[in-house]
Amino acid sequence: MLNDKAAVITGASRGIGEAAAIELAAQGVSVVLAARSKNSLDAIVSRIEDNGGQACAIECDVSEYDEVATAVTECVAEYGKIDILVNNAGLIDPISRIEDSDPLQWANVVDVNLKGVYHGLRAALPLMKAQGSGVIVNISSGAATGALEGWSHYCATKAGVLSLTKCAHKEVGDLGIRVVGMSPGTVATDMQVSIKASGINPVSQLEASDHIPPEWPAKAIAWLCTDAAHEYAGTDFSIKTDEGRRLVGLI
Ligand code: NAP
Repeated sequence: MLNDKAAVITGASRGIGEAAAIELAAQGVSVVLAARSKNSLDAIVSRIEDNGGQACAIECDVSEYDEVATAVTECVAEYGKIDILVNNAGLIDPISRIEDSDPLQWANVVDVNLKGVYHGLRAALPLMKAQGSGVIVNISSGAATGALEGWSHYCATKAGVLSLTKCAHKEVGDLGIRVVGMSPGTVATDMQVSIKASGINPVSQLEASDHIPPEWPAKAIAWLCTDAAHEYAGTDFSIKTDEGRRLVGLI
């Protein structure tokens, strides 16, 4: 159903972004993988191409608007359009209580998690408006609506991302463009390794076996790119619930 679409995925060098790139490519999407670790991106592109998919890699720091805009432009140059943007890049380090936090590092999380998503929206929306179609999936978290000690930077930025999803939907939802969030629950990636090492709040007490594999949110991202997901536009779609998992085909 996604055959012949073209997508940009930020934070595609590992974890959920890597799995999303592989899933979308397997469903026939030509994918632009964007992140800072170019060597990792190149290795993933090779794997996708070995499996018959189309992919390319671009070094991109999402906290820099021009670099995100270049990734979007690259998608149009390579594949003629941009149908899908997955705003996935994010970080949680360093985890610390507010009174111990480093103001510059706290602000860096805002630059990546919040401004990075705004940069993606700003770069892609004019092109999608001109096309009259497009899907933007913003990777959210339960932290968007819940508070956890040691995660003030993360909770505040994910709340901001949910607000961006809602605002963007108000602006372009009637123009054939779906902006939707995706809240995966806890996923077995490097981010959860950092969280466990922090020992700060109940999430850090979870075991690796409590987390879902990154292939699950990847399937949810792909499903959100289909018209079946239309009614979830402007909201955070969750795969923590049985209903969400059933819709995506996970159970
Ligand atoms: P991860 O394994 O740590 O991967 C994070 C990705 O983000 C990497 O590809 C990294 O690539 C990229 N990234 C970080 N800073 C970047 C920057 N400045 N510019 C471009 N890319 C950057 O984490 P993950 O668990 O897959 O997380 C992916 C998304 O899911 C995040 O938005 C996270 O908040 C969200 N999420 C995760 C969980 C979970 O339990 N894991 C739960 C809810 C939501 P480079 O280092 O190569 O740049």
